[in-house]
Amino acid sequence: MIPFNQLKPLHDLLAEEIALAMRRVADSGWYILGPEVEAFEREFADYHNVDHAAGVASGTDAIELALRAGGIGPGDEVITVAHTAMATVTAIEAAGAKPVLADVDLCTYTLDPKSALDRITDRTRAIVVVHLYGQPADLASLDAIAKERDLLLIEDCAQAHGAAWNGAKVGTVGHMGTFSFYPTKNMGAYGDGGAVITKDAALADKLRKLRNYGQTTRYTHQSRGCNSRLDELQAAILRVKLQHLDRHNQRRQAIAAIYDELLQGLVTPRVAANAEHVYHLYVIRDQRRDQLMAALKARDIGTLIHYPIPIHLQESHRDLGLAAGSLPNTEKAAREILSLPLYIGLSDDEVKRVCMTIRELRG
Ligand SMILES: *Cc1c(COP(=O)(O)O)cnc(C)c1O
Repeated sequence: MIPFNQLKPLHDLLAEEIALAMRRVADSGWYILGPEVEAFEREFADYHNVDHAAGVASGTDAIELALRAGGIGPGDEVITVAHTAMATVTAIEAAGAKPVLADVDLCTYTLDPKSALDRITDRTRAIVVVHLYGQPADLASLDAIAKERDLLLIEDCAQAHGAAWNGAKVGTVGHMGTFSFYPTKNMGAYGDGGAVITKDAALADKLRKLRNYGQTTRYTHQSRGCNSRLDELQAAILRVKLQHLDRHNQRRQAIAAIYDELLQGLVTPRVAANAEHVYHLYVIRDQRRDQLMAALKARDIGTLIHYPIPIHLQESHRDLGLAAGSLPNTEKAAREILSLPLYIGLSDDEVKRVCMTIRELRG
C-alpha cells in the first residue's frame, strides 16, 4: 500500500529535535507570542532575506490580515484564481473585499497574467497570486502589472515554502508573502499556524497589531484587530522544521525527477525557465483521470485531486455569477489533474512502483 501522503515518517526522522523543542516550551511557562515566536519570526525573515515576519494563526488569516494591513476592505475588488484552495477566496471575503476570479495558465496551473489584466476595473485594489503546487507564478509579469496599475501584490505561498523566482524566494517580490504551516504543507507545524513576510516596516507593524486585537501597548488599541496569534509550541516546532526545509525540498525535487523520468510521454509538470519548483504536489494530467485514479486505488496506490471543483462552480460561490465555461483552463485542469504520492519518507522504490503501475495502465 502506498498512501497519497503520510506525516508520521517525517516525525520519526525529527522526533528527538521536536521533543526537545516541545519540552522547552512546556517548561518555559510562556505559551503564546513569546520568545519562540520572536525567534522564529527573525529566522523566517532571515531565511527570506527580508526584515519582517509576523506569525499568525493560519495561512487563511495570513492572507486576510495582509489584505487588511494593506488597506483592502469593503468595496474593493481583489483578483485571484478559481484553481486554488478555498482558503484563498475565504480570506479575501473575510477582509470584506470581493474576489474576482481569473483563469490559470495550463502549463503551470498558476494565475495567467493576461487573464488578470482583463479583469482589472476601477475598483481593483489587489492581486493575490497563488504559487500553486510549489511552483512560482509568473511574478515578473504580475509585479509589472501591479506596479503599473498601483495594486497591492500579495503572494499566497502556502504551497511554496522555499520556492524561488529568478533566484528570489517567493513571498519577497510582492508587498507581502503569506504562508500556511498546516501540517501537510512543505513546512508544517503540529497544528495550525501561518506567517506574513514583508520588507515594509509599516506593514509589519500593522500586522502585529491586527493579529492581537489591534493592541499597540498593553490594553491600548488604536485600531480594530482580531485574535490570530501563533503559539509558542508551534513556533518552536517550526524553528526545527525551518532548519530542514531546504533539504526536504531537495528530497521532494528528487522524487519529482524520478516521476519526470519514468513518466515521459504523459502530461507531467512543466517548470517555467525562471522558476524553482518545490513540489508541494506532483500533478499530472490525463483525459481519463477518474479511470486512472480508480485503477491506481485498486492497486493500493493513493492519489488525490487538487482541486476537483473550481471555486466559481462551488455551490457556495454561485453568487459570483461565473457560469461553467467562463474559466476554460481552470475547468479543463479540474477535469484532468491527478496528484501522485509525494512525501518525506516515500522511497525511490515506491515512486518507481507508482510509475510502473501508471505505465502499465497507460502504456
Ligand atoms: C493551505 C492553503 C491555504 C490556507 O492555509 P490554512 O493554514 O489551512 O488556513 C491558503 N492557500 C493555499 C493555496 C493553501 O494551499
